[in-house]
Amino acid sequence: MRTGSLRKAVEVQVAADAVEKLVDAGVDTVLLATVDVQGRLKGKEHDAQTLLSRLRSGPLSPEMCGYVLGTDLGMTPPGDGPFSWQSGFGDVALLPDMENARVLPWLSGTALVLADPVSGGRPHPLAPSTVLTEQQQALADLGLVPAVGIETEFVLYEGTARDAAASGWRGLRPATWDNRDYALDQPPRVREFGRRLRRVLAAAGMPVEAVKGEGAPGQLEVTFPYGEAVAACEQHVLFKHAAKVIATEHSLIASFMAAPSTGIGSGMHLHVSLEGLDGPALAADPAAGIELSELGGHAVAGLLTVLPEVAPLWAPYVNSYKRFADHSFAPARLAWGRDNRTCAVRVVGHGPSLRLEVRLPGADANPMLALAAVVAGIRHGIEAKLTPPPAVGGDAYRRLDAPLVPRSLEEALGRFETSALAGELLGEPAVAHLARVARLDLDHHAARVTDAEVECGLIQA
Ligand code: GLU
Ligand code: MG
Repeated sequence: MRTGSLRKAVEVQVAADAVEKLVDAGVDTVLLATVDVQGRLKGKEHDAQTLLSRLRSGPLSPEMCGYVLGTDLGMTPPGDGPFSWQSGFGDVALLPDMENARVLPWLSGTALVLADPVSGGRPHPLAPSTVLTEQQQALADLGLVPAVGIETEFVLYEGTARDAAASGWRGLRPATWDNRDYALDQPPRVREFGRRLRRVLAAAGMPVEAVKGEGAPGQLEVTFPYGEAVAACEQHVLFKHAAKVIATEHSLIASFMAAPSTGIGSGMHLHVSLEGLDGPALAADPAAGIELSELGGHAVAGLLTVLPEVAPLWAPYVNSYKRFADHSFAPARLAWGRDNRTCAVRVVGHGPSLRLEVRLPGADANPMLALAAVVAGIRHGIEAKLTPPPAVGGDAYRRLDAPLVPRSLEEALGRFETSALAGELLGEPAVAHLARVARLDLDHHAARVTDAEVECGLIQA
């Protein structure tokens, strides 16, 4: 008991010293935030000096309305479950990582402290970070540690969100009017946006690998260096925050919708390699070559088996499924191949850098949940020693023998809710929780009449 309170006092001291350093460096605002189901930062702004005084007089026990862990995009709570009206909307305790406060160079005088939701002194079982950490732990029990590189696309539109809303979200103008894949002659506003984004992320200690023009009007792609799974996901959440803030500064809107308009798709490809006790575990010859090891084959088979069972983790919205179109570069068939961008799983790299690029998740997915699905798939494949189907060379969209990627949230959710495998790998409470949140989006759109329906039916029906 005495040791416990002594440790707490030391921790508070360390945290206070950390905040004092921030104040000395000119920080006046501290954001205390956690990550919601949608992968957004949610929290409160604190005056740095007041926070410091509070820490000097004792430990900090922040709380937040627990429903941030259970709403849809528009903050609608579900009809039942732990974050519904029946719950009374109580608070959830947060465990802030005060020592790892980081300055956010894209906001003046502001630092961020990330906090993990806790319940009964343990990580909250339904927090996205917990869902991922549990999967990672299960893989670690097999002696394997993933390294993760995330690659995300998004579309920049001209103007402000207020103007877009005022025009009923119609007539949106992408920041470029043509396909600028790999282009190095972007219009000045887009180039300046990319430059500032790279610079602030580097200044925050999260340098990106590259920013590139992508294959749709106004679309960019950002690639991140490899890192530890949770850290890579946290950085991605921060990057998205930065991208939106900086876009607004440049009178642009950054959209991470998976299908922001018909025929346009933004993906969040997850590159995953595995380190075993004896080194890289995916390659048959860890020194060179592109052949998968036996374990690598199991991992691929596990991904193709599990990912369609848990699709709401990597394609959470009605819109997410409109991305999976033939010849769009987003996958439409559950196939794998070597350096084959038409497949859902692309094996890429050589020897020690051999990795699995999972191309299914959209830019709209929470990276923690999407990665949890991927890690669960890899683990299942290895544990069950699954054998992958033959690798696909050439156009996987034409491989009618390969199963289709789920075509709608309704189909995906039906499968997820009743999947024994999903329950076994993620736990029934997490499946029920994530299904409830996904159903909110499904219900939201079910009764809405869209422009496309009117276009087809108004006169002809
Ligand atoms: N835009 C494609 C997707 O939605 C990917 C394009 C690419 O190969 O980078 O996944
Ligand atoms: Mg791309």
